[in-house]
Amino acid sequence: MPLGSKEELKEDICKTMRRLFDRGLISALGGNVSARLPGSSEFWITPSGVFKGELEQEDLLKVDLNGRVLEGFLRPSVETPFHAMIYKKRADVNAVVHCHNPFATGLALAGISIQPITVEAAVVLRKVQIVPWAFPGTDALANLIGEYIEGVRALVLMNHGVIGVGSNLLEAETIVETLEEVAATQFVASIFKRDIPLIPEEDMELIKKLYKV
Ligand code: 13P
Ligand code: ZN
Repeated sequence: MPLGSKEELKEDICKTMRRLFDRGLISALGGNVSARLPGSSEFWITPSGVFKGELEQEDLLKVDLNGRVLEGFLRPSVETPFHAMIYKKRADVNAVVHCHNPFATGLALAGISIQPITVEAAVVLRKVQIVPWAFPGTDALANLIGEYIEGVRALVLMNHGVIGVGSNLLEAETIVETLEEVAATQFVASIFKRDIPLIPEEDMELIKKLYKV
C-alpha cells in the first residue's frame, strides 16, 4: 500500500477501522488506529469515545510524539500515549492497530499462550507477548507497552485487548486479524484436547528459512 499523501493515509485509517469493525475486532467504543508517513514525528489517530464503525477523514487528529494535538477537532484516543510510545521506540513501525479481539484476549485471561499452530501464525505473528494489566489510557500502560514492544509485531494486553504493529496499515491489520484467527482455532482445539499438536520442529525450521523469520 503506498503511503503517499496525508489524504491517502487518513482515508486508509478510516477504511481499516471500518473493516476491523465489520470483523468484530473493533467495537462501537473499543479500539483505535494510528498511522504516520514513514519517518515522520507526527501521526494521525482516531478520536476518543465516538462510534468507531463509520469514521470519516475529518474525525481524525494529527498529534506529535508527545501527544499534543496539531490538527483536528475531536478528542484524540485515550491510548494516544501508547501509540506515541511505539513510534518513539520503533522507527520501523508506521501503523499501530489496537483492537479488542475476543478470542485472543480470552485465551490470555485463561492463561493459555498463543502458539504457532499454523504457517500463518508462525510467519506473521512470530512471538506473541502478553502485557500485564495496566489501566487503559494511562502512562503506566504506555510505559509497559514501551518495554514489551521491542522486536515484536503482536501484543496481548491483559483484561483488555491486543496491539498489532506494521510498516504500514495493511501489515498492522494483518497482525490483529491473524492473531484472532489463530486464537479462535486454538480455542476450538483446546475444548477437546489438552495438548494441541504443533507444526513439527523440522517444518518450523523450514518455515524460518523460507520466510526468513
Ligand atoms: P478511545 O475511544 O479513546 O480510542 O478508547 C478506546 C479503547 O479501546 C481504550 O483502550
Ligand atoms: Zn482498548
